[in-house]
Amino acid sequence: MLNDGRRYVGRFAPSPTGPLHRGSLVAALASWLDARVAGGLWRLRIEDVDEPRCSVAAADEIMRQLDALGLHWDGEVLWQSRRTAHYRAALDMLVANGQAYGCECTRRDLAAQPLALDGTRRYPGRCRDRRDVTARAWRLRVPPGEVAFDDALCGRVVIDVSADVGDFVLWRADGYCAYQLAVVVDDAAQGVTDIVRGADLLGSTPRQMLVARALGVPVPRHAHVPLVFDAHGEKLSKQTLAPALDPAAAVADLAQALAFLQLAPPADVVAAGRDALLGWACANWTPLPAIRPQ
Ligand code: GLU
Repeated sequence: MLNDGRRYVGRFAPSPTGPLHRGSLVAALASWLDARVAGGLWRLRIEDVDEPRCSVAAADEIMRQLDALGLHWDGEVLWQSRRTAHYRAALDMLVANGQAYGCECTRRDLAAQPLALDGTRRYPGRCRDRRDVTARAWRLRVPPGEVAFDDALCGRVVIDVSADVGDFVLWRADGYCAYQLAVVVDDAAQGVTDIVRGADLLGSTPRQMLVARALGVPVPRHAHVPLVFDAHGEKLSKQTLAPALDPAAAVADLAQALAFLQLAPPADVVAAGRDALLGWACANWTPLPAIRPQ
């Protein structure tokens, strides 16, 4: 699945902790449109790496919802729960060349550390240069300084990962691969060139760029789409109990998501049904690379 020709490859990577809601549809639709308009591929990856929080039933429902919405993916679905050996090999490589190290700190050891923007505790590097560690988790040795990238929608983003989160976790103390490592290994394996996803992941991107650099794999382009908020000003999410999309309401949901993406469809196109609506959206979508900031 590697992509040496660098043909546009997009992807949608839901975590099956619940069904799709209006917020996840916006991200899926923007990513699908951008891939289709670029003549590229659109991959589906089920991010069930955090197995205790995920279910096959939720993954099945997500796939049924995507199908009903007409957002068809290309090729095989990639299941993170089946890829542990690949993640382990990537970690072993990073450890072997000194870019990752074992850490024995417990939550309690870090309780006094400041909170990073994403709610994790900034890691002060306690185990960084120790040799006598009984590793519980594994961390990336984050180089000092800023990481910058040009997001197609958000513009230039500059984050100092070393100052904000410090050496972050690649392999968790509970034995599961961390999201930050799994995503990078999988994007590389799926040949992903363009990541279009929700703005809640903006802060993760510099971390994933550092992992990609450490692994020596290409860094994809990024576009982070605005989040959808509910009437109480809360981000729509599974945690805030956002209602699941009803496959029977696919056309209305697509029309609403398009309007959110500043692409409100005319009523006659909506009335013409799902495929006409998606065709109209493709014809009217401004490809994200075209509006990418310089
Ligand atoms: N699995 C993540 C989520 O559902 C998305 C990961 C990504 O797009 O990189 O929030």
